[in-house]
Amino acid sequence: MIKELSKNWDLSAEIRELHDRGLYRSMPLVSGAPGRIIYLEDHIALNFSSNNYLGMAGHPKVLEAFSNAVWTHGAGSTASRLIAGNCASHRELEEFIAVWKGTEAALVFGSGYQANIGIITSLTNANDLVISDELNHASIIDGCRLSRANISVYPHLDLDAVEDALKNSAPRRKMVITESVFSMDGDHAPLTELSDLCRHYGAAMVVDEAHATGVYGLKGEGLCAERGIIPDVQMGTLGKAVGVSGAYVAGSRSFIELLVNRARSFIFTTAPPPAVSVAALRALEIIASEEGAKRRLRLQMNVEIMGGMINEMFPQRNFACHINPIPIGRSDLTMIASKACLKQGLFVQGIRFPSVKEGAGRLRLTLMSDHTLDDLKNASQVIKSVVVHGARG
Ligand SMILES: *Cc1c(COP(=O)(O)O)cnc(C)c1O
Repeated sequence: MIKELSKNWDLSAEIRELHDRGLYRSMPLVSGAPGRIIYLEDHIALNFSSNNYLGMAGHPKVLEAFSNAVWTHGAGSTASRLIAGNCASHRELEEFIAVWKGTEAALVFGSGYQANIGIITSLTNANDLVISDELNHASIIDGCRLSRANISVYPHLDLDAVEDALKNSAPRRKMVITESVFSMDGDHAPLTELSDLCRHYGAAMVVDEAHATGVYGLKGEGLCAERGIIPDVQMGTLGKAVGVSGAYVAGSRSFIELLVNRARSFIFTTAPPPAVSVAALRALEIIASEEGAKRRLRLQMNVEIMGGMINEMFPQRNFACHINPIPIGRSDLTMIASKACLKQGLFVQGIRFPSVKEGAGRLRLTLMSDHTLDDLKNASQVIKSVVVHGARG
């Protein structure tokens, strides 16, 4: 059967083409617990490609809460939230998130991908207009497609283009959607200006805080909180800085009610295991506490130290975030550079098409609060030898 499929549809030719274009992907095997050191295939390397920005994925208190909860609540939720999977731990997590975010209500999804699909498809249909930054995440793009709304994609961060799109149309509903911290570039959306535009033109503002949650804001609420705005809808993941799994959506009570009734990516899927929500809540409590603030400060110090070293190597760049792209260009060269770094004990993932535009391949260097000064120096040395001096192994 499988052989027939391969032969008739020539899947191997398709795979060969991916190889030829430098776009073939595989999944390196990781072992051990998440931290500043990664065990990747047969390498032990400094981990500069983690979204575990605050080290919460290995935090003893999170692990303890997780393992205790498994014995109390079982391994899985066994059903969707609307059938028999609406455990108290999900409710408690949502109540915490709503207070933390300063919104009326919140809802937990199985993943950020599902959350973005659910948000966009629940709010819009073919009568509506979604205005979306060209560098928005694939889950936002897919949500737009599934919604059947008219989509206006604007050049990255271009406020004039957003205003033109808002001005020149009269759909039933208008929505502007953006990431707050862009996942592959580490730059920030002009949230205040976007918020003003949305208010002026009566559009809903939707912000994806996937890479800002935990990292920005006095209590790690995200970049919107840091800028003092509360958009109509904000989402973020519980699997990156929060270190566990899943995602949240926060907004008005009626919007959350609508999601429960309309979001197919919420309704037609088994609820996350209760223990996942217990662990995510424990992680968020830490993130919102004094300890979280200390971890954010350490991360910020690392951003500044690493920034100094990287900006010296690439004077045209301005490293000022926990996510930093080191531009390479061609897809195949990007992966070669990533491999060369790994050989020298540095894991920094190559990012290429279709995650970014063709020809915009880069090493995506991310920082953690747990990185030591030596880690930063070593990483910077390796980047220098591979990217600046072109070492290949
Ligand atoms: C990772 C990510 C998502 C998806 O979240 P998951 O929980 O991993 O599915 C959505 N948006 C952005 C910007 C992301 O970086």
